[in-house]
Amino acid sequence: MATVEVSNVSKKYASTWAVSQANLVIPEGSFFSLLGPSGSGKTTLLRLIAGFLRPDSGVIKIGGAVVNDVPPHRRDIGMVFQQYALFPHRTVLDNVAFGLEMRGCGKAERFERARQALEMVQMAGRENAYPKELSGGQQQRVAIARSVAVRPAVWLLDEPLSALDRKLRVEMQSELRSLQRQLGVTTIYVTHDQEEALSMSDAIAIFRDGCIAQQGTARDLYEQPANAFVADFLGSANLLEGIFTKSTAGMCVEIEGVHLPVASNQPFAIGDKIRLAVRPERLEFAELSSAKGWGLPAVVESITYLGSDSRFVLRTRRGTRLVARAASRSHLGSGGLTEGSEINVSWKPEETAIVAQ
Ligand code: ADP
Repeated sequence: MATVEVSNVSKKYASTWAVSQANLVIPEGSFFSLLGPSGSGKTTLLRLIAGFLRPDSGVIKIGGAVVNDVPPHRRDIGMVFQQYALFPHRTVLDNVAFGLEMRGCGKAERFERARQALEMVQMAGRENAYPKELSGGQQQRVAIARSVAVRPAVWLLDEPLSALDRKLRVEMQSELRSLQRQLGVTTIYVTHDQEEALSMSDAIAIFRDGCIAQQGTARDLYEQPANAFVADFLGSANLLEGIFTKSTAGMCVEIEGVHLPVASNQPFAIGDKIRLAVRPERLEFAELSSAKGWGLPAVVESITYLGSDSRFVLRTRRGTRLVARAASRSHLGSGGLTEGSEINVSWKPEETAIVAQ
């Protein structure tokens, strides 16, 4: 187990900064995801940590020691790639034992450890098979066994489940997470799948154009996104444009001419242009005629029944489109809202995030 520290790390390819001034501290034993759209620099950073690439500037430390000049095989890492990268002419057992052989481990011990690793990924009994005789999911299990057989201090996984079908992917997510807990190994996991990152990670760094847009726990990022990109990338968010201002009731935000309360301690000055991010499930709405208190007037444009809940598309008077989700029973059926209903939209100020425009 080891802490991984990345300080001001940058990497350029030709004219593109693939990673720019990245700073991360990944605590010992934690499961940390690098999440972001394709081309945002996740794999480049993982390869820098693995040692397959050298940073143009900055420092990478593993277990407190600077590793910038240390080659990959001396970094005490185990790595899993998207495409399993198994040797086709070696058996499953030989594939898993390979890393141990490279580290000078004797024959009896390496086969013993390879067998243990295969057991951990439910592949005991397939030691003598060749990769082509296995399904994609089984091949990835072998690749996972190979990466943990060396008992690395740091486990690096680059989109390891993206080639698998959805059902298998979800199963493997929980298996990987319990294997990680069992081993207690510091883990860095690259994915572009928000749900995967949210469900597996202790903490997440969100990448955008080579920069880290925000890092924190899944809850921090979802509840308090630092900017509009994070709010929209992680789950979906309604972004309402407004001006930070003051009314007789205190600090507020003016949206479409209406003064709406905000949670306290906002780092904005009067007159700042801001965006209010509200999750679809956090919007509250009631028929305009029965609404009490503040809110934005809007019209229900469409209602889509999705079983346990329904999706509402709302349009404010100035034409802003909002998406809301609410339990089906509270709004459908006799006396409920219908398309065209005039409503009042509100939210709990503490359940919103204000981001700069
Ligand atoms: P991600 O893993 O988030 O999809 P990458 O780290 O693979 O992103 O890529 C980040 C950026 O660096 C992209 O603009 C990509 O085109 C560029 N890039 C990645 N690898 C190379 C390479 N070997 N040569 C040139 N450009 C590259």
